[in-house]
Amino acid sequence: MTRLQDDQNISSRPFDMSGRRGLILGVANHRSIAWAIAQTARQCGASVGIGVLDERAASKALPLVEGDDLSFIAQCNVQDDHQIDRLVGMAEREWGRIDFLVHSLAFAQLEDLRAPISAASRRGFLEAFEVSAHSLLRLSNRCGPLFSSDAAIVTLSYLGAEIAIPSYGLMGPVKAALEAEVRYLAAELGASGIRVNAVSAGPLKTLAASALPGFRQQLKSVGETTPLKRGVTHSEVANAALFLCSPLSSGITGEVLHVDAGQHAVREL
Ligand code: NAD
Repeated sequence: MTRLQDDQNISSRPFDMSGRRGLILGVANHRSIAWAIAQTARQCGASVGIGVLDERAASKALPLVEGDDLSFIAQCNVQDDHQIDRLVGMAEREWGRIDFLVHSLAFAQLEDLRAPISAASRRGFLEAFEVSAHSLLRLSNRCGPLFSSDAAIVTLSYLGAEIAIPSYGLMGPVKAALEAEVRYLAAELGASGIRVNAVSAGPLKTLAASALPGFRQQLKSVGETTPLKRGVTHSEVANAALFLCSPLSSGITGEVLHVDAGQHAVREL
């Protein structure tokens, strides 16, 4: 497989986001997709509020807010409404409005990921659903009063939402629900000018992805089946997410944009 170097194909400032302010949830470390999105947002001139799960991630995320007094980091476990309130409250105090919200997080217990889908436990399924899908609704609702008149919401999905990829396990149905939420939120919030979209990313080496059975093999072989004959980079996914956050995509809502080197468009039968 040939894989473009992350900074090989993209200029460092793909477009102008200066003056825009957005919450980005899901930074665990420098490999997180949310990290790439936050880094690109800062390069484009935006201020960011980074939502992290724990203190360890908070200290790792420090470079993402350096040099901008309006950028901040806050702990936010999306299973805790108080922590969501605190994060959104910080945006209210610091910015008075929110121009974009990036939801780049997911969770499922390892044993549920590894089990056949029919054996997913009730508790494990509900937890995966709560963290990975319901949180988009909670966050969108809580940010609602602060959204600017052309705000955008973006979440991260995967092809396993559309077709059965057995190794993706219970995350397939969870991501299918997430993509449906994108369409329903787009319908609900469109009248207020708020757009809602998803980026369906090809496989990238991150903490969450490494937990998936067979992921390493999938990453190795992805270039054999994609039209572009390679996988995608963090930068490519981040640029698409930022495009959907920016006024450049003002006519797009309810969309699932595939950034997967074309994988979704082909099948080898
Ligand atoms: P990652 O492990 O870097 O990010 C997952 C994030 O979810 C982490 O920051 C983690 O702290 C956070 N999280 C988990 N439980 C949480 C909770 N209760 N409250 C708040 N945050 C919580 O992995 P990633 O690959 O960057 O994942 C980001 C998103 O991209 C996920 O939705 C994932 O499904 C999606 N995605 C990833 C790939 C891939 O191949 N890496 C492909 C397509 C889609």
